[in-house]
Amino acid sequence: MALGEVSGEDFTLLLSVARELTDRQKGKVIRFSRKVFIPLTNLCRNRCRYCAFRRNPDDPGAWFMSPDQVLEVSREGARMGCREALFSMGDKPEDRFPEAERKLRELGYGSTMDYLVSMCRLVLEETPLLPHSNPGVMEEGDLKRLKEVNASLGLMVENTSPG
Ligand code: SF4
Repeated sequence: MALGEVSGEDFTLLLSVARELTDRQKGKVIRFSRKVFIPLTNLCRNRCRYCAFRRNPDDPGAWFMSPDQVLEVSREGARMGCREALFSMGDKPEDRFPEAERKLRELGYGSTMDYLVSMCRLVLEETPLLPHSNPGVMEEGDLKRLKEVNASLGLMVENTSPG
């Protein structure tokens, strides 16, 4: 908290100390994992104020990716040298929007989580990529199911807020 208050010359000094410490600990090599972004759906039951990703079903640019689109994007990512398929999505849109529930039913699924698990398996079986999912709040059962078809998982802790 105190570091967040630093300004002016002290801030410049703080940056140079941070850089020095980083270089000393990590050297000059930057490592990263090449991943292709698979935004399964941008519909979301939540409304985080900073979020530029979320859409309502009737907003322009609202989508659910089809399995064919998931495969197409994954294969293109693999062709360009990616190693991971990063699944992102809104949080349980079917809890708020009948349109999302209908769309999932058309696709043959009862929930976004069911669809995600299936798309992870598809990518794992049909491409050389390793899935990494970043869904919203998850139950223990969701984590167990995703564990079977993901190399790693992300958790959006901000949407556990009651507000
Ligand atoms: S939960 Fe995620 S997708 Fe939904 S509004 Fe918040 S940041 Fe956006």
